[in-house]
Amino acid sequence: MHRDTRIQHHGEDRERSLGSVGPPIYRTSLFTFPDCASFEKAFRGGRERHLYSRVSNPTVRVLEEKLADLEGAEDAIALASGMGAISAVLLAFLGSGDHLVLLSKAYAPTLSLARGLLRRMGVEVTFLPPEEVGDLERHLRPRTRLIYVESPASITFEVIDLEAVARVGRAKGIPTISDNSWASPIFLQPARLGIDMAVHSGTKYIGGHSDILLGVAAGRRDLLERVRSTAILLGASLSPEDAFLAVRGLRTLPLRMQRHGESAFLLARQLLVHDRVAEVLHPALPFFPGHALWKRQFSGSSGLFSFRLRGDVRRFADALGIFRLGVSWGGFESLVLPSALVAAGCAADDPRPDIPPDLIRLSVGLEDPGDLWADLERGFAAL
Ligand SMILES: *Cc1c(COP(=O)(O)O)cnc(C)c1O
Repeated sequence: MHRDTRIQHHGEDRERSLGSVGPPIYRTSLFTFPDCASFEKAFRGGRERHLYSRVSNPTVRVLEEKLADLEGAEDAIALASGMGAISAVLLAFLGSGDHLVLLSKAYAPTLSLARGLLRRMGVEVTFLPPEEVGDLERHLRPRTRLIYVESPASITFEVIDLEAVARVGRAKGIPTISDNSWASPIFLQPARLGIDMAVHSGTKYIGGHSDILLGVAAGRRDLLERVRSTAILLGASLSPEDAFLAVRGLRTLPLRMQRHGESAFLLARQLLVHDRVAEVLHPALPFFPGHALWKRQFSGSSGLFSFRLRGDVRRFADALGIFRLGVSWGGFESLVLPSALVAAGCAADDPRPDIPPDLIRLSVGLEDPGDLWADLERGFAAL
C-alpha cells in the first residue's frame, strides 16, 4: 500500500474503539486492574496492558506506530518535545569519559546541551564542522559512543552525507543519529540510508499547526529501548491530547509538505534574481553547494530556507505583514527570523559567530505564494 494510504489507517484499531474513525484520547494518568494476576501481568511488561501514562498510553502508541511506519524504522517513541527526545537520546548513551561527535551546526539548543550538561557530566565532545564530515573517521576515539548530525544543518543548510556517516558508524559499531526535522519523514527516511536513529522536533511539520510541542525518536529497536527507559525517567512523556493532535497532523503531512516545498522553492528562485539579495541558501537550488547530495538523498525540500539581504534586516522584517517575526517553523503560518536578532538574544552563553549577520530565515507557510511574494516585495520596498 502507498504511504499516503497507510498514513491514514496504520496503527489504528477501530474495532476496539466502537468504530470511532479517529483514535480515542485516553485522558488518564493510570490504568486500573480487577485482580492481582492481571496487575502482575501488566507489570511484567508487554505494551498490551498500560500501567501509567508516563510509561505508556494507548493514544500515544497509535502515534508511535504511525511514525515508525513513516520513517521505515523498527519502532518510534513520541515524547514531550524535540529537545525531550534529543536529551533522552544523548543521556541514554553517554556517561563520564565517553566521547560524542556532534555536527557543529546542529540546532543551537542541542549544541548548548552538549556544551553545558554533557560536559558537566564528563562527556567529551567534538564539534564537527560540516566540511569535515568526509573526515569523520579521523575524529573518532576509542570511547566515541555516538555520532550525531543534522541534514541539512540548521540556519545555513549544509547538506550532510548521511550514507557516509552511516557507513563509518556501522564499520566502527557506533550508533548514528540524525535530526530529520527539516525534511520530515515525507522527504527523507534516514533509516533507509543506514542511520540508526532519526530524531525530530514534531513541533514543526509533523504537528504542523503550531499548537503542540512534540519530539520523536525512530530507528533501531534495541537502541530505542534504552532511549525509552531514559525518557521515562526524565519524565519527557507526551500527553494523550497532544498525541491525538499529532495523529491529526500526520493525516495531512504529505499534502502540507508538498505545498510548503513548492511555495518555498518558488520564493527562493525569485529571491535568487533580486538585486537586494546576496545569496539564497536552499538545497534544491541547482548552484547550492550541497545540491547534488540533496538530490541523491532527499525526495523533496521543505518550507524552511535562508537568504542574505543587501540592506537593513530590521527595516525589511518590520515592513512585512504576512510573514510574522517568530522562532520555530513548520506551521501553517509564514515566519521571518533575522539571524542577527537571535544571535543578540543568545550572546551570553550561546555565541554563534559562524552565522552571517545579514542572514534572514524564512519559514514558508500554506498561504498563497503570490501573496507571500508581494509581502517580501513590501520588505524590499522599505529598504
Ligand atoms: C525546534 C527544533 C528542535 C527542538 O524541538 P522542540 O520541539 O522545540 O523541543 C530540534 N531540532 C531542530 C532542527 C529544530 O528546529
